Amino acid sequence: MSRNPRYDILFEPVRIGPVTAPNRFYQVPHDLGTGNQRPHTHAGMRGVRAEGGWGVVNTGYCSIHPSADDSPFTYCHLWDDEDIKVHSLTTDAVHRHGALAGVELWWHSGTIANRMTRITPMSASGISYNSTVPNWMSLTSARPMDLDDIRQLRRWYVDAAKRARSAGFDIIYVYAGMGYGPNQFLQSRLNTRTDEYGGSFENRIRLMREVIEDVKEAVGETCAVAVRFSTDDLLKVPGDTHPSEAHEVIATLSDLPDLWDVKSSDWTLETATARFSDSGAQEPWTSFVKPLTSKPVVGVGRFTSPDEMVSQIKRGILDFIGAARPSIADPFLPNKINEGREDEIRECIGCNICVSAYHDGVPVRCTQNPTMGEEWRRQWHPERIPPGDSNQSILIVGAGPAGLECARALGQRGFAVTVAEARESLGGRATIESTLPGLASWARVRDYRTNLIQTMANVDVYRGSPLSAQDVIDFGCAHAVIATGATWTRGIIGADTYPAGEIEGDAVFTPDDILAGADPVGPIVIYDFDHYYMGSCLAEMLRKRGSEVTLVTPANAVSAWTLMNNESYEIRLRMIELGIGTVFEQRVTGLRDGTVQLASTYRDSDVRSIDCGSLVVVGHRARNDRLFQELKADPDRWADAGISSLQSIGDCRAPATIAHAVYSGHECARTMDAGDAVQPFEIERPLICSVA
Ligand code: ADP
Ligand code: SF4
Repeated sequence: MSRNPRYDILFEPVRIGPVTAPNRFYQVPHDLGTGNQRPHTHAGMRGVRAEGGWGVVNTGYCSIHPSADDSPFTYCHLWDDEDIKVHSLTTDAVHRHGALAGVELWWHSGTIANRMTRITPMSASGISYNSTVPNWMSLTSARPMDLDDIRQLRRWYVDAAKRARSAGFDIIYVYAGMGYGPNQFLQSRLNTRTDEYGGSFENRIRLMREVIEDVKEAVGETCAVAVRFSTDDLLKVPGDTHPSEAHEVIATLSDLPDLWDVKSSDWTLETATARFSDSGAQEPWTSFVKPLTSKPVVGVGRFTSPDEMVSQIKRGILDFIGAARPSIADPFLPNKINEGREDEIRECIGCNICVSAYHDGVPVRCTQNPTMGEEWRRQWHPERIPPGDSNQSILIVGAGPAGLECARALGQRGFAVTVAEARESLGGRATIESTLPGLASWARVRDYRTNLIQTMANVDVYRGSPLSAQDVIDFGCAHAVIATGATWTRGIIGADTYPAGEIEGDAVFTPDDILAGADPVGPIVIYDFDHYYMGSCLAEMLRKRGSEVTLVTPANAVSAWTLMNNESYEIRLRMIELGIGTVFEQRVTGLRDGTVQLASTYRDSDVRSIDCGSLVVVGHRARNDRLFQELKADPDRWADAGISSLQSIGDCRAPATIAHAVYSGHECARTMDAGDAVQPFEIERPLICSVA
């Protein structure tokens, strides 16, 4: 297939100072949960993007000096010449596929605690950026920088830039956004200095200008010097000669950098999930930049549609289509557009499991792309997969995310695959949950897989086919895979004051009941000890239907886990805006006479009750493993029928996120013919990293 000429503009080369990007697809700097600690994993993840057609591939934030230490989070550093070796792995991996490699030089002490290096943090005026951002986790405050510190800082940038050039990077960033480095000096609320670096706008922008000039002088002949700048906060500050200080920064420095990379100042806004923000939502923060500079501009917007990308270019908003999450979900997105295979794009669903993995301190994982983070240690490629034995037939029971991914990958491997799904619709929970407010894009988990499966002659899908154990045996396959999912229960786990077992009665519902169309009478109490999206999504849905809704949780926040995927602020705001009542740090202990009884998470003696027409329990999910257990209990029965292996995957194996289910289905497909051998993976050993 060939490229649609409508998309030609996306494949034009673009000059960035002394280097030229082969196209407009630009993987912006973003961390991958690897940093210098896992250099091979990092290089594997970046290299595969270059292979997939991203013309520019950047590192995540890369500290220039031990005084910017973001431990325990994973981050890159270029602190000394030894670090050059680590980064050469990445630049080699990127250059192998003709892409440019960029590094995001980062320095900041105002937000972070230097937990590992224990160097006293420094900032423009000793005011921590954290003091302006709630919900963060550093106690240390910084000391104000004197003029010697500033001179040193400028030297650190130059030293790191030279190391970056030695490591083979083509684009070297000065990160001046999010309150980092020179950005903190720009902000009058954080910069109260009275010397030549404080006060007037000219003084506050001085350090930013100096650092860009220093880096350009040091490496600018061979490397492009890019600036990453966050705009939304300064767009609110009126400028002296322009509408805002954000305009003023771009207008003042205009053509000094070789490229402007513009973004939001708030990571939770920048990474807003699909539940709270559409693709392209950052345009108000980027669209004012191009008229103020002749240099190329890159910005992000969770773009997965080539038409939307073309629109950004043609309307003069951006020169490069920046991406973090779309490049995680589909490292081959550019190549698919180039080859006229747009319908094969594995579109990001905007769920931020990737963000949560970074917070977990592990390599980034992705709901849509189960190979993410496994490129090096397991040699899993996002597009290629070793062929299997086409004579082997495999029966998959259940077509949720796990079953569909397993079928897709086994089909790609060439096995003879049959999928039996009880319902008429495919996609399991992805289909059902995509009807929740804001989660429509979650149906992409189904659509990507069903689109491909329907083109595979070796995969048959039967809808409306609930299978029993005897059906599985009678079917006559070589391998049986049970992917029958999980069911929400009415069980109140962990509340020792509630009588053992589930709460029964007509007034008690589970999420499955509500999603199947139950219409509970108000006032509705949602008891959420799942702590992810379901409780707050149901609260929103039921409130919008007109009921009075109160969300009760033993935690001290709504959807408490969502601090990990950057959604908690927006979720809380949504609850407030919709008038949904919240009761924190309380456990449900009983339900009678139109009231629900509660006890404090901390003291059983603190009790209360609230009116309750219906109680929705959002807590524990139990495996739908009856079919699997029945078969497993009688191995002779299925072995006699010629079935040589039986396994459960996804929620049927252990209820978890959709990301876990997709991974489980993929792993099953990759290892189907591995026998009893445990799938080996390379262990990353950075200390004996064998870099030449
Ligand atoms: P997962 O996330 O693990 O894929 P889901 O709950 O999303 O789990 O999907 C499980 C699917 O299995 C559902 O679509 C359900 O209808 C289907 N299913 C459950 N039991 C059977 C069965 N006995 N036969 C066929 N399909 C089944
Ligand atoms: Fe997109 Fe979710 Fe994958 Fe992150 S984890 S890249 S948000 S699909």
